[in-house]
This record gives sequence, structure tokens and C-alpha cells, in this order.
Amino acid sequence: MITVKINGFEVKVEKDTTILEAANKIGIKIPTFCHDPRLRPHGSCRICTVEVKGGRNLPTACTTPVFEGMEVETESEGVVEARKEILDLLLANHPLDCLTCQQAGRCALQDLCFQYDVKESSYGGAKKEFEIDNSNPFYYSDQNKCILCGKCVYVCSQLQCTDAIGFAERGFPTHIATPFNQGLEESTCVSCGNCVSVCPVGALVPKSKEKFRYWETSPVRTTCSYCGVGCQMDLLVKDNKIVEIQPAMGPSNEGLLCVKGKFAYNFIGHPDRLKAPLIRKNGKLEEGTWEEAYELISSKIAEAKETLGPNSVAGLSSARCTTEENYLLQKLMRAVVGTNNVDHCARL
Ligand code: SF4
Ligand code: SF4
Ligand code: SF4
Repeated sequence: MITVKINGFEVKVEKDTTILEAANKIGIKIPTFCHDPRLRPHGSCRICTVEVKGGRNLPTACTTPVFEGMEVETESEGVVEARKEILDLLLANHPLDCLTCQQAGRCALQDLCFQYDVKESSYGGAKKEFEIDNSNPFYYSDQNKCILCGKCVYVCSQLQCTDAIGFAERGFPTHIATPFNQGLEESTCVSCGNCVSVCPVGALVPKSKEKFRYWETSPVRTTCSYCGVGCQMDLLVKDNKIVEIQPAMGPSNEGLLCVKGKFAYNFIGHPDRLKAPLIRKNGKLEEGTWEEAYELISSKIAEAKETLGPNSVAGLSSARCTTEENYLLQKLMRAVVGTNNVDHCARL
């Protein structure tokens, strides 16, 4: 174990631990834009810059490993000055659209400008004028707001393994793009939205049907009901309506979702959604009660079993039910109806 001092507090950590991880261990928060513990550290944004006693420059906490006897200051005068300068440079070509930006309230740039009292940039000069990529059905890419943290690119390549996007051009016009700038719709993007979930600013945002602010929502942790993987997710709920879904850290999804889990939730409050069983009477579907429906189902099954035998009946279940519900359906078919004809919608 290695002993280091951070802001005067001693902490013992294993070899190869970074300054950021050591600080996290004792609850000292170092700001980051580009860091994600699931990705290989890349130190792109430099906002996690800290001061190491005896060091000649300010290293990035997310990429610098600790050494025995290291003494670190995370909010010294020099560090605060450097962070202000980084924010000043980021704002130099960032549209200050916070009043109408969808990301306000969940934006790391907004939060850090507030924390370090940076209201505007002291640099004049060119502004980015990229066209907003509106071609994906589920999210926008507004490269004028991108701070080039790289998280979207690395999440897409290292975690999602799709490699749909990358850095294009060099210097001032650098931006995140699909190959040959053909737009998201023409790319290999599978619309999982994992890049959208990690973007720290308003450069990648979902196409929301509802107008809401993040502070008006409450998260409800749940398990995605689309398939058997069991991804954990937080439903962001405003006025009893789901307005967005954020992936949560679960053992099977580790903070990732697929397109269905991330974006396909509008059916929940859809006016066409069935709220009662429909029973065909005189050739027309009419709303009935569950008692009526169950009565009809059991009488039809009994009739089929009686006249054509138990193998004339099959039970088709769904990946969107729980394991317990699927267990019950096969048990009902095997033990009560007497058939092994049991299958599942995931094999359609
Ligand atoms: S991305 Fe953040 S800082 Fe930029 S306009 Fe939106 S809320 Fe403001
Ligand atoms: S939505 Fe998924 S596949 Fe498409 S660019 Fe983002 S991370 Fe990659
Ligand atoms: S689009 Fe968002 S996540 Fe991607 S590099 Fe820009 S700021 Fe970072």
C-alpha cells in the first residue's frame, strides 16, 4: 500500500491508483469532464488538474498514479487559476445558451462555471458554426456546444463497440463526426444513446417530447422490461409522466442501455395503450373485464383440450414478463393443460 496526503488528509491506496481515485476514496471531489471509470483514462479536458508538492507543472488527477509520500492539493490558488483559464478557453467558442439549453441543470460546464465564478470568456474571436445533425430519430448532435471531452467517442468504441463516431479535423474546427461527415442516419450508429447519456454538456441531447428541467424530475430506479438482460435504469418522472430514461449501474449493464431501453418509452403513456381486455363479440372487439376474459380463455382451452387433445393448445410467453411469470405460464401449460407446447416471443 502507498500512503499519500491529499489536502492534508492521509490515505492509503494500492499501487497504480490515480490521484483522482485516491481523492474519491476519502470523499474529496475533483471536477472532471472527460473521466469515466469504465473507460481507459485519457486526460483530454485537463479540468482535473491538481498541484503535487515538488512538481514542475499541474498534472491531471485522472491519469497520474500516486507515489509514496506524495502530497497533493486539489484547490490551491494555482489549481483554481488553471481551472478558471480552462473554463475561459472553453467558453471562448461556446454558445451561452443556458436559458434555453435542454441540458441546463445537468451540465458540467454550467456547474463548474458557477463553482469557479466564470461568467463569460475574456477571449474574443471565431465561433463554431456547425449544422446541427438532426438525422438520428432519437437524439441531436449540436457540435457548437461540444467541449471535445471525447467521452462519446470512447463510450461508442470501448463499451458499445460500434465505433460509429470519431474526432474529425484538427485545431479549431475539430468536432465529433461520423465517417466522411455523412450524418448519424447514414452511419453505423445503432442509436443506443450511450454517447448521449455520458455527454457532460448539451452537445448530444435526446429529442424530448416533453419540455422539462432536470430539477423538476424525480428518478425512479427500475429494471428494463424489454428483454431478459435486466438492465438497470432510472426513469426521470415529471408530473407522473416519464420524460427521459438514464442508464443506471447494474451488474448486467454497467451503465449502458440499448435503443429500446433508452428511448422507447412513449408507449407507457400512449393514448392507444390497452387498459382493459378486448373481447370479440359479434365480430367486433369490445372492452370487457378481466374476469370475463379469463372465463373465456379457460373455457376455450378446456374445449380444445376436450375435442382435439392437450397438444392442440400452446402457451406463448414474453421476454417482457418476469422470470417468475414465465415460470408460471410453462407450469400452467405443462401441469394443468398437459402440453409441452411452450414458447416465447423472443424466438419469433
Ligand atoms: S451546454 Fe451547458 S453551458 Fe452550454 S449552453 Fe447548454 S447548459 Fe449552458
Ligand atoms: S448512439 Fe450508440 S452507436 Fe450511436 S454514436 Fe452513440 S454510442 Fe455510438
Ligand atoms: S459531444 Fe459531448 S461527449 Fe462528445 S466530445 Fe463533445 S462534449 Fe464530449
